Amino acid sequence: MGQLVERGHELTQLPADADVLVVNTCSFIDPAKQESIDTILEMAEYKKTGRAQKLIVAGCLVERYRDQIREQLPEVDAVLGTNELPKIVALCEGVEAPANPFEPYLYHDLTPRVLSTARHYAYIKIAEGCDHPCSFCVIPQYRGQFRSRRFESVVVEATRLFAQGVREINLIGQDTTSYGEDLGLKDGLAQLMARLAQIETPHAKWIRFLYCYPNRITQKLLDTIAEHAALVKYIDMPLQHASANVLKRMKRGSHGDFFLKLLERIRATIPGVAIRTSMIVGFPGETEADFQILQDFVKAAQLDRLGVFSYSDEDTSASFHLDGKVDGRTIHNRKRKLMAVQRRISRARNRKLIGHEVDVLVEGPSEESDLLWQGRMSTQAPDIDGVCYINDFGDVAPRAGEIRRMRIAEAHDYDLVGGLIDAPEQQMPAASDPFPILAATR
Ligand code: SF4
Repeated sequence: MGQLVERGHELTQLPADADVLVVNTCSFIDPAKQESIDTILEMAEYKKTGRAQKLIVAGCLVERYRDQIREQLPEVDAVLGTNELPKIVALCEGVEAPANPFEPYLYHDLTPRVLSTARHYAYIKIAEGCDHPCSFCVIPQYRGQFRSRRFESVVVEATRLFAQGVREINLIGQDTTSYGEDLGLKDGLAQLMARLAQIETPHAKWIRFLYCYPNRITQKLLDTIAEHAALVKYIDMPLQHASANVLKRMKRGSHGDFFLKLLERIRATIPGVAIRTSMIVGFPGETEADFQILQDFVKAAQLDRLGVFSYSDEDTSASFHLDGKVDGRTIHNRKRKLMAVQRRISRARNRKLIGHEVDVLVEGPSEESDLLWQGRMSTQAPDIDGVCYINDFGDVAPRAGEIRRMRIAEAHDYDLVGGLIDAPEQQMPAASDPFPILAATR
């Protein structure tokens, strides 16, 4: 989007108005592939009914099914793989695309960018690719070997985003905890977080990283999070399972007892930390006994947030060839059971927060009701965790992007409700937003 805007093209979210339609696809698991294909077919209709002249398909589906898309979807005019992003302008303009000398692709601080999130928070990708061999995962095939962005490139981008008025930055990558290893940095992620915490901003800022690999979490990283106020006390660490048998078949290794000790160390080092994980149920060979180990682990771990995924059998993954496939009904039931265990834990943890005062980043009027506003504590990551509903803010409506003090009055399974108890923040002029089109429509 950044490259197109820089060339003077206008972006629209209304497909009927577009001259060129670009569908960015995912092909991680079957439902994502299906959604991608459905969207391509839906967008193709606009070539008949709208003003669209061209339909371009980009992203991971192209990496996996480039030839099939070309052969079986004649409505598609061009495809763009994950390493070919610099060709997007040429494809949209219908001119010869230059060969890309920079493969494999890795964006940097000079890559033009349009924020597709609301203007108070942003994601920064600090690395691309993954060298782990998880047998269920096809991401390394599509995204390639692990490679880090330069340290200063991330710092410059974060500094610019904060100057634009962004209050919360979330560092992402397929494996954030390996950041800097290929650059020869020791404890690269800890160094990066410490440096980002020092960026001067007129207001408080939040910085977190997501998707860390459990055995890459160093004591130095934990100490760094504990040390800096701007570093959010939040660890997102997909564990995938707790049974040693299943973890071995997943080619991730380790076991529930190791994870429990790690959780203990994280909590001892970072008081008040919220821990999120995700688990996969129904992995090939997962027995009732394995599932019981997983349930026992979730009860013992008392995690703040848990995502449960049903195993999806992808013909390109190593696990596709494993025996002991679990049937769909069992997978569905195990997911339901595990979520029920976590719902009770989450509700109990939320209830303990009633009466507490916390900082919330105000996000705007709630999507649930006209009477409420919505915000998040720093321990609620955007787009994935629960939220805080604001039901009382006095006479002056809060502004999206403010960090305010809220007293929690009610607790639900995943969300909290409360009222603001402080005065509005003093408004600071943000640097002008060079790409206001999308931000204004969110
Ligand atoms: S660490 Fe994550 S991205 Fe890498 S192979 Fe495992 S699941 Fe996939």
